[in-house]
Amino acid sequence: MRGERFLQSLDDGRSVWLEGKRVESIRQHPAFRGTLSTIRDLFDTLDDPALRDQVGYKAEGREPYAHSAFLVPYTAEQLAQRSRSFAFWSAQTHGMMSRLSDYARSIVTGWYAARRRLNELDPGFERKITAYYEHARDHDLFLTTAIIDPQIDRSGSLDDSRIADRYLHVVRETEDGIIVRGAKMIATGAPYTHDFIIYSFLKFEAKDASHAHVLIVPANSPGLHIVCRESFADAREQNHPLSARYDEMDAVLFFDDVLVPWERVLLYGDAEKVLALRANRTANALAFHQNVVRYVAKLEFITGVTFAVAESIGVTGFLHIQEKLGELLTQIEVIKALVIASETQAKPDESGVLVPELSYIETARSIGTKFYPRAVEILQQVGGGGFVQAPSGVEDFYGPISGLMHLYFEGAAVSAEKKVQLFKLAWDLIGSPLGARHELYERFYAGDPMRAYANLYNSFDKDRLVDPVWRLLKETSKGRIAPVL
Ligand SMILES: Cc1cc2nc3c(=O)[nH]c(=O)nc-3n(C[C@H](O)[C@H](O)[C@H](O)COP(=O)(O)OP(=O)(O)OC[C@H]3O[C@@H](n4cnc5c(N)ncnc54)[C@H](O)[C@@H]3O)c2cc1C
Repeated sequence: MRGERFLQSLDDGRSVWLEGKRVESIRQHPAFRGTLSTIRDLFDTLDDPALRDQVGYKAEGREPYAHSAFLVPYTAEQLAQRSRSFAFWSAQTHGMMSRLSDYARSIVTGWYAARRRLNELDPGFERKITAYYEHARDHDLFLTTAIIDPQIDRSGSLDDSRIADRYLHVVRETEDGIIVRGAKMIATGAPYTHDFIIYSFLKFEAKDASHAHVLIVPANSPGLHIVCRESFADAREQNHPLSARYDEMDAVLFFDDVLVPWERVLLYGDAEKVLALRANRTANALAFHQNVVRYVAKLEFITGVTFAVAESIGVTGFLHIQEKLGELLTQIEVIKALVIASETQAKPDESGVLVPELSYIETARSIGTKFYPRAVEILQQVGGGGFVQAPSGVEDFYGPISGLMHLYFEGAAVSAEKKVQLFKLAWDLIGSPLGARHELYERFYAGDPMRAYANLYNSFDKDRLVDPVWRLLKETSKGRIAPVL
């Protein structure tokens, strides 16, 4: 089964740092055990005859199924197949695992799908991306992205050497490749990824050539250090059912003179070309499509938890609670509608690849930054103090105060034990370190939401909306309404 193969492949000498120590074996460390067991089970779905058609497809001339993130969609059915696979893994993980590599795989698939046109950027591009795409697909590579430069001083620029030296840059070229130095943040899933897709989110100038690059970097590259945040994994599954299995680790990457072989240097030295690749519509639409399909599962999950909490304490009859529960349903419907619109309005690109309509996906990503924090707020308002009244563990149900536990924790519609379990799950979702990380994630994973909204305004054809306003005022000033007799 490929889940086990995936786990074994992680013992490859990578340098992962957690709590001041280098992690000897990722798969044996308690911080990663639950998450890796979740990923192993997901990978195994590709080998399960009952499930593999939901998750994967048979690439031409290849026997085992490949994950559908690698499927280049030319037809509506193939686009739907991609969507189904994202929805399936998301449903299995309640939308709580966003970087199961299907996002980064989709970027690679998009660059591969648009390779002929992108070859105009660099004569080696088509050859390199084709070789890499086939390798990643055929070896089930787990991929993630790291595109943000370290938060040193956001008011500064590359003219400041404090910033220029720390942002990832090329220090020299060799026969074998380029040597890069600097840092990248944030790479979710970094400790258990195979390769990082690296580029910059910033718009560099022509003079910043050494900072302009698009790279694919193996996680076990000598000199690459993966520096993890604090682990939120909690082995006490009954207390923290989500933290126990879904802690996608976030990390910063330090590149201490890392050699990136030429075959993995997709672009280098030309800021304009890097920007053109980064803005490629085919790749962005295929990848961002995964984001919003996954997001539906997460909204459905938090809505389900909120409904269950409301029922368990008998508050569903109150009008303002019903209004809030209804609001959660509208959130789901809005994002679902945008997913459907993006798929039904998909159009072929120059190569015939069926590309989901990006404007709807971008809208879902932008508005989604407000939906999830609002959903968390609603769950807090519905559950009140119940989240912190839950006892420290369910063990008390089996000890000397068992009778009292059953008496005082009883709910309106559920037993005391079930109600405690439910509130612990809800607290894990909104109050635990993992829960706080998820709220932050939904605000920022798609970039800075403030600037995304501002860009939408700045790039919009405003005359279309403003001209009718001035026309109406012009007509009004002339008094064109004929008297009604
Ligand atoms: C949990 C989590 C997981 C993530 N996972 C990944 C991942 O796997 N891969 C990846 O590539 N990225 C990932 N990200 C990173 C994410 O893309 C960035 O956090 C996001 O783009 C925001 O950038 P920043 O954090 O550097 O914030 P900053 O850009 O530093 O912004 C901080 C504040 O300053 C303001 N600000 C900063 N600069 C400007 C400016 N020039 N003009 C106006 N306002 C400004 C912003 O509006 C914001 O309010 C993740 C983020 C989170 C929170």
